[in-house]
Amino acid sequence: MTVQARIQTLQSGFLARPQQLYIDGHWQAAQSEETFDVFNPATGQVFAQAAAGASADIDLAVRAARRAFDSGPWSKMNGAQRTHLLWKLAELISANADELALLESLDNGKPLGFARMVDMGGAPEILRYNAGWATKLTGETIPVSVPGEHHAYTVREPVGVVGQIVPWNFPMLMAVGKLAPALAAGCTIVLKPAEQTPLTTVRLTQLIEEAGFPPGVFNLVTGLGEAAGKALVEHPLVDKISFTGSTSVGKSIMAAASRSLKRVTLELGGKSPTFIFADADLDRAIAAAAQGIFSNAGQVCVAGSRLYVHRKVYEQVLEGITQRARQLRVGPGTDEGTEIGPLVSAQQRDRVMGFIESGRREGAQVLVGGDSPDSPGYFVNPTVLAQTTAQMTVFREEIFGPVLSAMVFDDEDLDTLAERGNDTPYGLAASVWTRDISTAHKLARKLKAGSIKVNTPFGMDFGLPFGGFKESGIGRENGHEGVLAYTETKSVIIGL
Ligand code: NAP
Ligand code: MG
Repeated sequence: MTVQARIQTLQSGFLARPQQLYIDGHWQAAQSEETFDVFNPATGQVFAQAAAGASADIDLAVRAARRAFDSGPWSKMNGAQRTHLLWKLAELISANADELALLESLDNGKPLGFARMVDMGGAPEILRYNAGWATKLTGETIPVSVPGEHHAYTVREPVGVVGQIVPWNFPMLMAVGKLAPALAAGCTIVLKPAEQTPLTTVRLTQLIEEAGFPPGVFNLVTGLGEAAGKALVEHPLVDKISFTGSTSVGKSIMAAASRSLKRVTLELGGKSPTFIFADADLDRAIAAAAQGIFSNAGQVCVAGSRLYVHRKVYEQVLEGITQRARQLRVGPGTDEGTEIGPLVSAQQRDRVMGFIESGRREGAQVLVGGDSPDSPGYFVNPTVLAQTTAQMTVFREEIFGPVLSAMVFDDEDLDTLAERGNDTPYGLAASVWTRDISTAHKLARKLKAGSIKVNTPFGMDFGLPFGGFKESGIGRENGHEGVLAYTETKSVIIGL
């Protein structure tokens, strides 16, 4: 089937029905019956409507999740039963991956092949990885020193009802990345997707229903951050909030959560540095630096947006990246051969173009891009800014678009280099390219970031803890730590 034919099948199938909320095992409109428009970022056209859930819907969803946790079937199931359900969901996502990828491409704008490989390829693997943890959340027996004879041990209990709020850059992958460890740990969930990209989470929820998760275990409330998101964060029956998004909203969530001491995991923004040394494998470093800022149109929290290159190879590296930027095909995500899709929204495009303008004003040199193609979608051409300084706005703020800011370094010592890299409120990721093993290890130690990549473009894996230092967040997702974040430790001591 051609992509056009597949789009028509979606339009007469999934997209023909109004998108609803999923609460306590039932599909329903918002209590207010209000909806909001969903845009195709490649055309700027509205192509779907989603239910505008708000505080009344959040309240219903949280109460359903509470029941399913406190007295319902979920807390009575054993780990193996949860494992089976998570595996079943993984199989269903794999079986529907082509349709989901198309939906993601239409909703978010990202290239179809990328959505198929990265988003829909990754989601089932995250589920399978976390499915394994459901039977392996163990405590310890601990020798104690109080007087008398005792048996003491710890148990890991699920934290309870979890509110999960996800952004629009990897809508399906982020949703699955949050729900998989939470369900493995035995929590129940109310999830709110971003208003720009609700569609794959609705389809995902249908698959959750099909997999046979009991009512109330997973609830979906689409809606606006200011309404549904805020109500979820403030709801007294929610035990934990897991949020991915901007640092400013993350801070407001932490403040709101402090009132009831809700647990929080926050994955926030970044302004991650890449260091390319003169002895690096330059072909690979250039390819990775370009991929690190241009893939997903730069809308990636770990995007390598600050580039530091040694003077000896600066020209060559910049020329290589600029060349790649020129060759990348920008277009609708559903067009064959597209490598860079549109940004997610008109607002995001304007924000990114505003940053580029500020770079020009403050004296940066635009080596390539810096403009938007003349078309109705929300496109921004891959952009490389040279002669940036550490004081420029483009070098300090998260742009979240395909915009690289480059700077040169000389033979300064590693402490000075690390200081330059660490000169930011963020601390999410950093990349180092060098063949000198000592330089690699020393910089990996000195850089204040949650994920350090050395000589590889791959920084994230479902087994590797992921999260931010400083204002890039609190807590870790993925790996053993990621699932433990959905548990409370209980100590039991028994006098014998
Ligand atoms: P955002 O406002 O932080 O949105 C992330 C999620 O939080 C969305 O689901 C959003 O709902 C929700 N939300 C917004 N306000 C809320 C509130 N008061 N209480 C609870 N939930 C709330 O991010 P954005 O406005 O879409 O993007 C702005 C910038 O954030 C980007 O340019 C980028 O720099 C950064 N960002 C970072 C990441 C990341 O992965 N770290 C992801 C996305 C964006 P709505 O969709 O309805 O607003
Ligand atoms: Mg927003």
